Parts: sequence; structure tokens; C-alpha cells
Amino acid sequence: MLPAIYLQNVHKVYGSTAVVNDLSLTIHEGEVFGLLGPNGAGKSTTIRMLTTLTQPTEGDIVVAGFDVVHQASRVKRNIGVVLQQTSVDVDLTVWENMEFHGRMHHIPRPQRRELISQWLDYVDLVSKQHNLVKTLSGGMKRRLQIARALLHQPRILFLDEPTVGLDPQTRRRLWEIIKGLNQQGMTILLTTHYMEEVEYLCDRIGIMDTGTLIEMGTLSELRQRHGQGLLMKQVGDRWDYKFFPTVEAAEASLMQHSNKAGFLVRASNLEDIFVELTGHNLD
Ligand code: ADP
Repeated sequence: MLPAIYLQNVHKVYGSTAVVNDLSLTIHEGEVFGLLGPNGAGKSTTIRMLTTLTQPTEGDIVVAGFDVVHQASRVKRNIGVVLQQTSVDVDLTVWENMEFHGRMHHIPRPQRRELISQWLDYVDLVSKQHNLVKTLSGGMKRRLQIARALLHQPRILFLDEPTVGLDPQTRRRLWEIIKGLNQQGMTILLTTHYMEEVEYLCDRIGIMDTGTLIEMGTLSELRQRHGQGLLMKQVGDRWDYKFFPTVEAAEASLMQHSNKAGFLVRASNLEDIFVELTGHNLD
């Protein structure tokens, strides 16, 4: 089976700065892949290359079986994109936004109407279809963006921080929508700063820093690699920490300290691994 997304030795250079530096990555069909990294790591630039918005300086990128440089229009036909800056037209109604996108993709009229109804129903916006987008809440606008990105029936969906700025309840609702799409077979690449989002949605995670992929795997692989147990010690207003293969090993290490005041043992999580690797917090 062909991979859904394939990058081989990809570089993107602006001026004399390598913003993406020798990135190689394969994402399988049907996978939800989470791309994490501190601000400036090169995540958005990577997504922009994968979605044909900018070309790699060097290297090969194949998306849905097509080369992003030489077969850009075929790539576009097979992908749906929700970028943070992709805004819907707030002076049009929900339906009009969908209609406009459907025409851009040359979807014939009867099929267009059917698909618009289907996707508005999926994201629960049928009751708002005649409302102006400027009257919608942030969560509704995001759902509309997703419905619009799905209208031309893509195989791969790109979501750049899909739930940023949304309240926890709205965020959960979007997670259900995203999970449901994946259960229908959609491959999804998302960037996020939310650990719970990764834990709930992502099959595999890639961590980028300064243009390079510094870690990749499932959450459980990452925890096994870095240590599943953590021994922490409060020093002033910060915590020193050390990874151990298991929580039990961290506890055994604590037992060797005569003064146990200020120590804490717990299971490690993605945030701990992220901080260890990048020196930054997730958000
Ligand atoms: P992230 O999405 O991980 O925050 P970006 O891909 O947006 O990272 O940015 C990576 C680096 O590339 C940043 O230092 C940013 O300033 C730089 N960069 C992004 N786009 C451009 C551009 N068009 N021209 C010059 N530098 C850019």
C-alpha cells in the first residue's frame, strides 16, 4: 500500500536559514499523525509544503500518490486543508460558503447540494445553514471550515491547530468529529499544542525542533524510550526531574534518599518528554 504522505530528505530554506532541515517522514493511510514542536520549529512550513502552498527547496514530497511540485493540482484534489489563517467568508451564509467552495472544485450542482447537506449535517450546522458566518461562535466557524475542507471528498485532511482558542467542551466536540472522520478511513495530519488532543486522537506523534524531526513514534513507544517513571524534586520554585524505565524504578530510587521531603514520583507523560527534548512547555 502506498503511503498517504511521504517526505524524503526535505529542506526548505528562506534566505540563508534552513527552516526545515532534512525531514524524512512516512504517514500511512488511515493514520492520525500529530506534529508537535515549539513555535518556530517548522510545522506550518511543513504543512504548507505538503499542501502545495510552498515548494520544498530540496527533497521529494508525495501526497496521496502525487508529487507536490509536479502534480500539485492532483494533490489538491485529494486533500482537505484547515489552516489557522484559512478563514471562511464572514459576510456570506454557511450554505453560501459551502456553495462557493463546491463551485471552485467544479462539483456538479446536484451532487454539490447533496454533499453540502451531508457535511453540514455531519458537523451539526444544518440549523445554521442560512445564517451569516459572522453570527456564528468560534467553534461553529471551525466546524464550517472542516465541512468545507471535506466537500470535495479528500482522502487526507490537514488540520493546523484545529482546536486552538476553543473552550474544552467545544474542543471535545471537534475531537469526536475528527475521530469519526478517521473511523471512516480518512488520513489526518494535525498540529497541536494540546497533550490531551494528542492522547485522544493521534496514532503516532512526531516532534519537530529547529526544522528537524527529533522524535517519532506512538505515545507508548515514546514513554518506553524515555522512561515511564519520573522522580521529581522541588528546588525553589522549579522541579528537577529524572526519568526511570518504570514508576517502580523511580520509587526504588526515592527509597535510597534518607530525606524524602520535596520529592514526587509519578508516571511520565508526553509533556515531560516534550520538555526533555525541546526545553519548552507544550503551550
Ligand atoms: P511553526 O509552525 O513550528 O511555529 P513555522 O514553520 O511557522 O514554525 O516557522 C519556522 C521558521 O521559519 C520561523 O523561524 C519563521 O520565522 C520562519 N519562516 C516561516 N515562513 C517564512 C517566510 N515566508 N520567510 C522567511 N522565514 C519564514
